[in-house]
Amino acid sequence: MKTLAHAVKHSSAQEIINSRCPVCGKIIRISYEPGHKAAIIVVCLSCLSGMCLDGVSKVPPWVSELGNSFETV
Ligand SMILES: [Zn+2]
Repeated sequence: MKTLAHAVKHSSAQEIINSRCPVCGKIIRISYEPGHKAAIIVVCLSCLSGMCLDGVSKVPPWVSELGNSFETV
C-alpha cells in the first residue's frame, strides 16, 4: 500500500476520490484524525485490509473539500 500511503497524504480531493483498495479493488474509507499526533486511517469496506499512518505533519489537501472522513466512489 505504499503508493496509496503517499496519495492519502498529498492528493487533492479529485485525485483521491476514485482510489480503490489495492488488495480487492473495492471502495475504501479514508479518515484524517487531527490532533497532537495526527493520523490518517485507511480501511477497505470489503476485505478490511487497511493501514494507519501516524505522525502526519500537514493536513492533507483533500480535507478542505471532503471533510475528515469519506468513502471513495
Ligand atoms: Zn479490499
